Amino acid sequence: MSPRPAADEPFRAHARRPWLPPDMTTPPPLDPLAPGGPIERRFALLVNPFYPKDPHASFGKHVLTPTLALTSVAGATPPGWRVRYWDENLLQGPPPVDPVPEVVGISVHLTFAGRAYDLARWYRARGARVVLGGLHVLSCPDEAAPHADALAIGDGVQLWPVILDDVTAGRLQPVYRATWQRPYREDPPPRRDLVPPGSFLTTASLIATRGCHNRCGFCYLSTDGLRMPYQVRDVEQVVAELRDSDEPYAVFVDNNLGSRPEYVRALCRALRPLERIWSAAVTIDVTDDPGVVREMALAGCTGVFIGFESLSDANLRDARKRTPRPEDYARRVRILHDHGIQVNGSFVLGFDH
Ligand code: SF4
Repeated sequence: MSPRPAADEPFRAHARRPWLPPDMTTPPPLDPLAPGGPIERRFALLVNPFYPKDPHASFGKHVLTPTLALTSVAGATPPGWRVRYWDENLLQGPPPVDPVPEVVGISVHLTFAGRAYDLARWYRARGARVVLGGLHVLSCPDEAAPHADALAIGDGVQLWPVILDDVTAGRLQPVYRATWQRPYREDPPPRRDLVPPGSFLTTASLIATRGCHNRCGFCYLSTDGLRMPYQVRDVEQVVAELRDSDEPYAVFVDNNLGSRPEYVRALCRALRPLERIWSAAVTIDVTDDPGVVREMALAGCTGVFIGFESLSDANLRDARKRTPRPEDYARRVRILHDHGIQVNGSFVLGFDH
């Protein structure tokens, strides 16, 4: 018989759930009797649905920096349309319905798919056309279809202007598809001006690259049907966006800013004169060349988020993560620390070994 676990063994004891204000755990009610105002033609609303906040899961992430997904889509709104952005996670109460937007675009992820469908039903009942997009729509279009007037499957920045033009012309299609092959530098800048000021630690969420040189089995980049080649934006585009912001601190939301060392060097050299501080997600192999780490530090990098995932070679192999050996992690972390860069380490629980 295996020995009984000690009472204080951490994974056996049930952690008491800390109290949280109800607004952080429950979405605002969608009043079925709420009268919709008149429909405003050529008015589009983009909604980031509510998800419950969990002190054990990236608590506070919702107010760190705004997601670029819908502000990037907003940037592609064609002339003649008014666009508004509503992030339910800013706890501003029920979403706006007066006037009723002609089009409501809703981002759908697995975490908040139920809420996204509730919102879709509520807006459709008031006469809005609802467009659903996002990773969960890409994975499960058949599930999402009954909740939408149109699905945007793939790169929403390319699809949004096409969809709005079709609404204007009265020929909205049930499904729109786009790949992520178009050069990333052609995307218009995100509409950060739509984000309520003062709602985040910093509104300067930046993105310079898309994709990653890895394809870890647990990562969203391995989602079925998601073919996202690694692409970079022009260094000048990224620098201009940070220069235009008056935030002292920026967050790069790239999957992995460090995938291409020569690009990181060029970006850092261009960022350095701005004298801002920033953080980014990278992989630990960014320390292959300490010269790159030095450039990052000189350019204002004060922190990195690194997915170490596991200290077991077998787990890393199973996850198909190409990474330096775990026994070298400590030395590599020291390289970052020696340059004044904090390391926020991430590990996956539940691997087989
Ligand atoms: S290194 Fe990170 S971003 Fe790249 S595939 Fe793995 S988990 Fe995803």
